Amino acid sequence: MNLSNGIEYLAIPGPSVIPEKVLQAMHRSSPNIYEGELVELTANIVPKLCQVAKTGGNVAMYISNGHGAWEAALSNTTNIGDKILVAATGRFGHGWSEIAQKNGLITTVLDFGTSSTIDLTLLETALKKDKTYKAILVTHVDTSTSVKNEIAPIRALLNEINHDALLLVDCIASLACDEFHMDDWGADVMVAACQKGIMVPPGVSFVFFNEKAKYLQNSLEMVSSYWDWRPRINPDYYYRYFGGTAPTHHLYGLNVALDMILNENIEMVWKRHEVLASAIWAAIDSWEKGGELKANIRDKNLRSNAVTSLQVHSPKGTHLRKWLQENTGLTIGIGLGMATPEDPNGDGFFRLGHMGHVNAQMIMGLIATLETAMIAVGVPHGKNAINEAASVIAKL
Ligand SMILES: *Cc1c(COP(=O)(O)O)cnc(C)c1O
Repeated sequence: MNLSNGIEYLAIPGPSVIPEKVLQAMHRSSPNIYEGELVELTANIVPKLCQVAKTGGNVAMYISNGHGAWEAALSNTTNIGDKILVAATGRFGHGWSEIAQKNGLITTVLDFGTSSTIDLTLLETALKKDKTYKAILVTHVDTSTSVKNEIAPIRALLNEINHDALLLVDCIASLACDEFHMDDWGADVMVAACQKGIMVPPGVSFVFFNEKAKYLQNSLEMVSSYWDWRPRINPDYYYRYFGGTAPTHHLYGLNVALDMILNENIEMVWKRHEVLASAIWAAIDSWEKGGELKANIRDKNLRSNAVTSLQVHSPKGTHLRKWLQENTGLTIGIGLGMATPEDPNGDGFFRLGHMGHVNAQMIMGLIATLETAMIAVGVPHGKNAINEAASVIAKL
């Protein structure tokens, strides 16, 4: 027998839990795509997205996942043969870099490993050595390592050394989870997708950009027709928002999801993620006393509030996941980009997604159920985790 019938909980770092309200908004007959409600609703989504990103700039929407947004951002900011600098703090930084290479860019990757943030001193040296980089690619939260990079100091550095590179930031995991201020922190371009903090099924992505990036795009030799952001921010016909048929049902869901975020208030959404993440980390502090389980990022100040990467003795990470999946209706994330020579498949790693539509009872359930799996699989762990997590939440 197993105990998994009931409401399932997908606690992975994207796609995330979809709110009932979003699902209900999507469950409808097809709308007119030439005029009326959908046209108005799409126009209203644009300022809502900018409010969530804390920008007075522009946003282009695409029918794509995050990988598409990566390519869109590069297509609108670089020429083939341009040099770019990539600051990688996990698998996703490398992923963006690989797309850049296939787009004909010359990439220099600064690899900061799988458990550290960007080292500003090394970044400064690299930027000073080469003033011709057209762009620097940074991941705000790398979902594989669960590290969170500070963005404002990178902008300050670029300004200080008078480097003209555009600052491109990947907020696919962090938007509407971890605090982010696109304009105040000085990102020129920011990419996001709808299936993480934005709580919509995968399928729509966003490229936000400021006036500087918009202006520079005009001097590019060529911009791919499909990824070109110009018609999408200034559509003379409705179909130009998406370069073809709009993702009709996703838009209904997206509109409701953005209203949920803005009604809660984006600052409160960040705060909710912060408190829930703190509860999980309090439990982890306790579990770590058993001598086996370890949070990948040691310093809590450097962790994302949206995702936590953890390590146990290989292959018990995989065993925990499988046991939870088969017996409890809880799905946790695989280790990603964490393979080592001793653990070639990364079976010692797993991740908890705590992004988007998550509340205190879900997180307490996640903690207690994960501890249950540790008992079942045989991961030694300190014994006070649930109390510690409860204290964080009860203190509110
Ligand atoms: C999820 C994610 C991506 C990739 O998004 P897809 O929708 O899977 O293409 C890229 N970067 C980060 C930081 C992510 O979390």
